[in-house]
Amino acid sequence: MIKEKTLIIGGGQAACQTATSLISKKYDGEIKIFCSENYLPYQRPPLSKKFLMGELDKERLFFKPEKFYTENEISINLNSYVQRIDIENKEIFLENNKKENYDNLVIATGTIPRKIDVDKKISDKVFYLRSIDDVLNIRDKIKESKKVTIIGGGYIGLEVAAIINNLGLQVTIVEMAPRILERVTSETISSFYTKVHRQAGVEVLTNTSVEGLSENNNGIEVITSNGGIISDFVIVGIGVLPCDTLASESGIEVKNGIIVDEFCKTSNDSVFSAGDCTMHPNNFYNKNIRLESVHNAIEQGKTVATSITGEKTAYNQVPWFWSDQYETKLQIVGLLDNYDDIIVRGDTEKQSFAVFYIKDNAIIASDCVNRPAEHMMSRKLISGKVLIDKNRLSDETIPIKEIVN
Ligand SMILES: Cc1cc2nc3c(=O)[nH]c(=O)nc-3n(C[C@H](O)[C@H](O)[C@H](O)COP(=O)(O)OP(=O)(O)OC[C@H]3O[C@@H](n4cnc5c(N)ncnc54)[C@H](O)[C@@H]3O)c2cc1C
Repeated sequence: MIKEKTLIIGGGQAACQTATSLISKKYDGEIKIFCSENYLPYQRPPLSKKFLMGELDKERLFFKPEKFYTENEISINLNSYVQRIDIENKEIFLENNKKENYDNLVIATGTIPRKIDVDKKISDKVFYLRSIDDVLNIRDKIKESKKVTIIGGGYIGLEVAAIINNLGLQVTIVEMAPRILERVTSETISSFYTKVHRQAGVEVLTNTSVEGLSENNNGIEVITSNGGIISDFVIVGIGVLPCDTLASESGIEVKNGIIVDEFCKTSNDSVFSAGDCTMHPNNFYNKNIRLESVHNAIEQGKTVATSITGEKTAYNQVPWFWSDQYETKLQIVGLLDNYDDIIVRGDTEKQSFAVFYIKDNAIIASDCVNRPAEHMMSRKLISGKVLIDKNRLSDETIPIKEIVN
């Protein structure tokens, strides 16, 4: 009997979760993963944290050992870049004219870093951070350097700044916006992290745009709207772009990501998509969003598996994310979607506080610094759309578990 065949393009969190969930659902079709990287599927969050610090072995990044794929008869094809999809004939095309047919196709191609224009002569001193290889190269460079400039004050730029500062290098962050993290959070959190970094010795330059990069005898110069900054190398963290070209070129609908429904189905009935590359509906905020988070990649991977096995469980999740910098663990829930009030619980000076974003007397998002209990509670309150008493929420004498009576 010919088995049904599911092909998965991409070898990251979403691809691995889809395959793992298919196995746990006793899917009896064939599963094949095609990944352009040369490593078993691995987690990316430690890349800008413990792995960059040198505190974690490469093997510890892999979600599953090789024998997991062998034992479960998942064919894992590394170094296999998928070039084209033919949705009419249900085929994918690889290098050397290799092709593979499918019954179900899952596109889990993630994102790629947004790049800046750099002269080839200095490109070996300009780094991006998305993969294991990127980190290995940066780690080598750190060993021979004293000073680094980081372009972009988003979460990845800040995490990398914290690690490299801890490793003893002088770090400058250059941010074009009036404050770091402007795109993703409130003034309260931006000011807090600006202070944390400055206290640690990192130079944080805001309202400073990069106009070019050049090299001179002293090193590489980042030419900014406020003058030049000399360092030994540069790391660019200015956001990512969804890898959706493969989909769009095959006729699948994309708009800042591959458009999927709540079952992670694309505009083609046999093609699903999961993870950072999707533009998907979110019930809590009543709009389509694209997320770059582990939680989303996991949950969408699970959803795809239910769609393929016929269970069809809709994706219905409040987004969450985390960021580790120095001694702080920031846990973020929800989206800052037109909030009308902010409540701070705790003490920013003590690096232990939660910021709740309120709309119509309900929490719609929160940023919790070293406050796991508040983080867990806000996940419950947001998903339950629970109305809250703002005075109780800010009152530290009331335990967070008793905030709603
Ligand atoms: C440095 C860093 C730190 C992060 N920290 C956090 C964090 O603290 N918390 C958090 O929640 N999230 C964090 N994230 C985000 C999180 O890692 C991503 O949301 C998650 O990896 C998304 O998984 P994915 O499977 O959608 O995509 P990816 O992990 O990007 O995997 C996509 C894979 O597809 C492959 N691919 C692309 N195109 C093709 C093709 N045509 N053919 C074959 N293969 C292809 C790519 O090479 C890649 O291996 C971080 C990300 C980075 C880079």
